[in-house]
Amino acid sequence: MNMRDCPDLLEITPSAGVERVRHGWRAKCLQRLVRMDLPVPRSFAIPAAAVQTIAAGRSGGLPGLSALFETGDGLVSVRPSAVMPDWGGPGTVLNVGINDATHARLAGRIGRGNADAIYLSFVQSYAINIARLDPDMFAQEGDGALAHALRLYHDEMDEDFPQDPARQLAEVLRSMARAWDGPSARLLRQAKGAPADAPLGLVVQDMALALGPGLSGSGTIQFVDPVTGTPRVTGRFRGQHHGAAVGSGAETLYLTCDERGTSLEDVAPDIFADLVRFGVAARERLREEMQIEFVLTDGRISIIDAVRLQRSSRASVRIAVALARDGIIPRTEAVMRVEPRALADLLHHQVDPRSPRDVIARGINASPGAATGRIVFSAAAAQAAAAREEACILVRRETVPEDIRGMHASVAVLTERGGTTSHAAVIARGLGKPCIVGASGIGIDGRARTLHAGARLLREGDEITIDGSSGEVLAGAAALLDPALDEAFTQLLDWADAAGGIGVRANADTPEDARTARRFSAQGIGLCRTEHMFFDADRLPAMREMIFADKPADRKLALDRILPMQRRDFIELFEIMAGLPVTIRLFDPPLHEFLPHDREGLRELAESLDLPLSDVTRRVEALSEFNPMLGMRGVRLGITVPEIYDMQARAIFEATVEASRKGAPVVPEIMVPLVSAMREVELVKTRVDAVAAAVRNERRSDFTYRLGVMVETPRAALRAGDIAAHATFLSFGTNDLTQMTYGLSRDDAGRFMGIYVGQGVYAEDPFHFLDNEGVGELLLVGARRARQQRPGITIAVCGEHGGNPESIDFCAEAQFDYVSCSPFRVPVARLAAAQSAINSRLRDKT
Ligand code: PEP
Ligand code: MG
Repeated sequence: MNMRDCPDLLEITPSAGVERVRHGWRAKCLQRLVRMDLPVPRSFAIPAAAVQTIAAGRSGGLPGLSALFETGDGLVSVRPSAVMPDWGGPGTVLNVGINDATHARLAGRIGRGNADAIYLSFVQSYAINIARLDPDMFAQEGDGALAHALRLYHDEMDEDFPQDPARQLAEVLRSMARAWDGPSARLLRQAKGAPADAPLGLVVQDMALALGPGLSGSGTIQFVDPVTGTPRVTGRFRGQHHGAAVGSGAETLYLTCDERGTSLEDVAPDIFADLVRFGVAARERLREEMQIEFVLTDGRISIIDAVRLQRSSRASVRIAVALARDGIIPRTEAVMRVEPRALADLLHHQVDPRSPRDVIARGINASPGAATGRIVFSAAAAQAAAAREEACILVRRETVPEDIRGMHASVAVLTERGGTTSHAAVIARGLGKPCIVGASGIGIDGRARTLHAGARLLREGDEITIDGSSGEVLAGAAALLDPALDEAFTQLLDWADAAGGIGVRANADTPEDARTARRFSAQGIGLCRTEHMFFDADRLPAMREMIFADKPADRKLALDRILPMQRRDFIELFEIMAGLPVTIRLFDPPLHEFLPHDREGLRELAESLDLPLSDVTRRVEALSEFNPMLGMRGVRLGITVPEIYDMQARAIFEATVEASRKGAPVVPEIMVPLVSAMREVELVKTRVDAVAAAVRNERRSDFTYRLGVMVETPRAALRAGDIAAHATFLSFGTNDLTQMTYGLSRDDAGRFMGIYVGQGVYAEDPFHFLDNEGVGELLLVGARRARQQRPGITIAVCGEHGGNPESIDFCAEAQFDYVSCSPFRVPVARLAAAQSAINSRLRDKT
């Protein structure tokens, strides 16, 4: 064809100036296939600028289109070609150009039935998508359907079905260009990260006929399993079939002998071998694992399209590592190709995407992974089920610290209330158990022990599956995939670590957490929340005695009973971490959390303390606060009840001496929570220094320690300069800092967060995604002021945001020293840290 006739049609030849930004990914991909000498039918790219002109109706129908139909069978297909494959686009239209004359010609060559099927499918598609006629009218198939459809078209449109191929094509192009501009297409692509005004190119390609004599049909072939990522050729070949056009003698074949049924490999081994050869070459040339779409015309192969293989998280890791190992992409590119969040899926069981899903409720996906178990409504029932070795799922309105043991005993947790940083969410993430919170559509009746989920009524003992990755509750036992902590996973993370980047530590409270942190190569513990250590059955009574003690001496006596247990906790943590830094946060929660809340619990407490019930009740009431999260907690307790911090400091130092004697020297990091004024730090530091001096003296052993401050009140961030005078490190507790900056309860916000995000009040849930503009500014201001006062001071983040790739990028940009997150989040954070470092180096280069 003479290209001067139609300057907007660029033939895709090896040397044509096809550009992804102008012509889209599909056009560029086809050019690569053409350059490889693969049998690609003649193809043309229409640039995005021309598509826009077409959409605006200013193209005059693109002059010169008729030249496209002068060769071959005179039929073409049109496919969308956006800049990124994920951005989608209008559906492909096949067989443009068919008219009475072509139909007659084709009937002679490929048989009347096949020619009818091709013509009919185009008339149907044109009538419905371009003339916008009622689809039901054009549903007829079989004998006489073509004549019927042409007659109907004439009756409805008052004209014959368009016979001019150029007019047909111009109308198809216009309809596709307009569809891309429509509001629903915009929303869809925006959801995939495309800008609202993303450009669209189109590709026009000669049709390779899949209907006709010999082995003819269309199919797809792929070379790895899209779910597991293991090398395996799979696909489908549909004989006498292409798009909606189904010819006589249609038959579906599998691609390989390994699959069930007859395969293309059996029927046509040479064709199969060629397809595999093309696939291997395409993988190398396109530097990607592809799915190839092909047509066989009487045994002749045409490669009509190739798309990046859709893949699961686990497959994405294996594919990236295999491409780098085969020398097709560099290791840093493999690191960049895997979405960090995808790694969270690999650490846990997942619902098999190939299995059916019976969704009965939805909530916030608070902790990833999937588990099946029987419903229990109380921590006690969970423990009883665990004792029977029965998998159970703890279903609660919300969880409280007393539920911890129940959470340990269950395989997953579901709560009606709460958000991403509520108790259930934080603890479940720490335990690595799937969890859904804020499932506001469910109704729990604790007494009747029933759960309403939409129209379903479930009882204690009924089986459900929690998909904590998607936030969906499924009825019954879903098919699960095992975790994929395989060699590819380890390899990818080793490459990620080699790329450098911000440090990654783990929030670890227990020896089990610490072991998980080591297993995932965390560089230390960035936050050990010590209060969990007080909830154990053998410690709670002493804790309660301490709370009820009137005099400091009695308080100390009770705490002395806890001291050896705390010391053991810390020795174990230090031993597991083997010289890596361990940051221990001093006691943080309000004391009220350690007291019983119901009458029965109060009675038992009165009995154990040998006090009248009224005394106990009065004392408990006196301790209750209107706003406990803003009340007597954190350093405020440390100053008003200093014996607690004294005991903890002693336990830490004695454990330091002990652990250093046996293994690597320990330099403990002690962190003071909820600070809002410099004087608080000064007071605590004076006492902790005194305890250190005493332990050094008693044990005749020297050690050092680092005292740091947890910055989780806005005032601490603003006053970070003078606070830094007494601290060797600052760690931003972004959970509380977000709560206090917004004045938004982290435990209750889940109730309306959906509405707030839906209406655009907040772009995202700020407990999930760090609010860079507000809370983030406090981080930057705090870090700057602290560094001015004490250059070289260590700056970190240890709130839940520490495991979030976007926040990690923010912290890395601000040159923080490390982030600390749930142990199971560490792999995600390591990959995100590497990607941030690689991106930053790339930016520096350009
Ligand atoms: C925080 O507030 O960010 C934090 C890490 O502490 P916690 O979640 O224990 O309040
Ligand atoms: Mg906090």
